[in-house]
Amino acid sequence: MATTRCRCYGSVKPKHRHFGSAERLAPVPELRFSRNRNTGTSSRRDVLCGIVGGFAAAALPATAHALDVLTDAATPGFLILSGSGGNIVVLATSDGQIVVDSGNARSSGDVVATLRPLGKIAALVNTHWHKDQTGANEALGRAGATIIAHEKTRQRLSAGWYVPAEDRYEEALPPAGRPTKAFFATGAMQIGEKRVEFGYLIEAHTDGDLYVRFPDVNIIAVGDVVSPERDPVLDWFGGGWLGGRVDALAKLLEIGDANTRYVPSFGPVIGRAEVQAEHDLMLAIFDRMVVNLRLGQTAADMLKAGLLDGLPRTFEDPAKFLYDAHKGLWAHHNKLMHDIV
Ligand SMILES: [Zn+2]
Repeated sequence: MATTRCRCYGSVKPKHRHFGSAERLAPVPELRFSRNRNTGTSSRRDVLCGIVGGFAAAALPATAHALDVLTDAATPGFLILSGSGGNIVVLATSDGQIVVDSGNARSSGDVVATLRPLGKIAALVNTHWHKDQTGANEALGRAGATIIAHEKTRQRLSAGWYVPAEDRYEEALPPAGRPTKAFFATGAMQIGEKRVEFGYLIEAHTDGDLYVRFPDVNIIAVGDVVSPERDPVLDWFGGGWLGGRVDALAKLLEIGDANTRYVPSFGPVIGRAEVQAEHDLMLAIFDRMVVNLRLGQTAADMLKAGLLDGLPRTFEDPAKFLYDAHKGLWAHHNKLMHDIV
């Protein structure tokens, strides 16, 4: 088992970000990771080389070998488990752990093995219903966690859903993995000495996205609503669209401050500058697309016309991003302008 030190100490490393400038970012505290499972990919390394940190090594259970575990010396009891689908955020309290998202199903045994020695799991909050965030729901539910989600996510996980790209239905989770507490707009809980707040990020990525805010430590878990590393995903069939994403990014800026750390499902821990940059990017694309939509252009037309040219970030798969964004815009055409059709 290899343990490797992050090489990003004390400086901004924008290689995995294609937008913004280093000058706009706050200085970066020292960042370390505590354990690596010796199969690290660039994705996991980028998490560990997070932009906004202050993280340091901590004692970990011996069973944590299969996941990367990021800890923060300035925030005792705070962990990020990486390498199991989306990032899993953990905050310990005097009355058990609060866990945000459960990773993918393949790694559920490792997730449970990593968390179990740390004490009981008081609550599991799902940022949305995708499989990279809900795969270990059943295992953690059986371990006693109360599962919390937005009502739309509760419904999806309880009834299943259609996956158009693969022309198949995803089955509902077993009862032990389904949320038993849900909310529509906002919610809050006190667990031990820690407060946790939830809020709906309507149609930002799916129809069931939420943020999980830990005001005591100024950290907000944002699921797939912020995507500093991968192309932003707009699950148009699942209810996400570009306008919802712009609004959600603005909301995340509104509820944070200059020192807030945002934890996305994929990619590094980020700060306000990165969220602002993604907001501005999405808004710029939205404005351009609405103009081109009025011209009757398809997503392919827009790509060919250079709609994504000259932006401060490039896309791995620009055709897919524009296709999904285009689908979502048509689903919301009546919100764009009065004469769009
Ligand atoms: Zn997702």
